[in-house]
Amino acid sequence: NYTLNMDRTLPNILVTGTPGTGKTTTSEMIAEATGLQHVNVGDIVKSKQLHEGYLEEFDTHVLDEDKLLDELEELLKDGGKVVDFHTCEIFPERWFDLVLVLRADTSSLYDRMVKRGYNKRKIDENMECEIMQVVLETAHESYAPEIVVELTSNTVDDMESNVDRVKQWLDAWKINNSK
Ligand code: ADP
Ligand code: MN
Repeated sequence: NYTLNMDRTLPNILVTGTPGTGKTTTSEMIAEATGLQHVNVGDIVKSKQLHEGYLEEFDTHVLDEDKLLDELEELLKDGGKVVDFHTCEIFPERWFDLVLVLRADTSSLYDRMVKRGYNKRKIDENMECEIMQVVLETAHESYAPEIVVELTSNTVDDMESNVDRVKQWLDAWKINNSK
C-alpha cells in the first residue's frame, strides 16, 4: 500500500514513451531548466538489480515491481522529481501531477534506434509500439485525463518547446499550490 504525502511542495512529473522518443534527453533538459531532479528508472533498475531475471527471447529483464515501487516511493514522497521510464502503468496514480507521453515519427524513431545498435527484433517491437500508440493509450487508462499530455518530439525545437511548456506548467502549479 503506497501512501504518499499529497501535500508535496513540488510536483512529480512522469516522462514516458516508446524507447527512443527522447525521454532521457527531455528529462535532463527539464531538470536543468527547472531544478527538479531527474530520476532515470531504467538506471535504478540496473544499478540496484531490481529485476528477477532475463528473458532471452525478448532480450529484456523482468522487473521486480515490488522492490522497484518501494525504492521509488522513498524517492518521490517529497515531490520535485522528473521520472523517466518507458512503462507507465506500474506506478500508483497519485504519485504524479503531470504525465508527459513523448511521441516521435517512425522515421525519426527508426534512425535513433539504428544509431543505438538495437537489433531488428527490438526495432520492430518498438516501431509497432509507437505506431499503435501503446504508451499513450496505457497512460490514458492509468491516469486522470487532465494530467496526461502528448508531446511531439521529432526535433530539437520540439524538445525545447516541450521544456518551455513544462516550465510554464510548473510555475502555474506553484501558484496554485502555494499556502
Ligand atoms: P529515450 O530515453 O526515450 O529512450 P533518448 O532521450 O535517449 O530517448 O533519445 C534517444 C536519441 O534520440 C538520443 O540520441 C537523442 O539525442 C535523440 N533525440 C531524442 N529526442 C530527440 C528530438 N526531439 N530531436 C532530436 N533528437 C532527439
Ligand atoms: Mn532513456
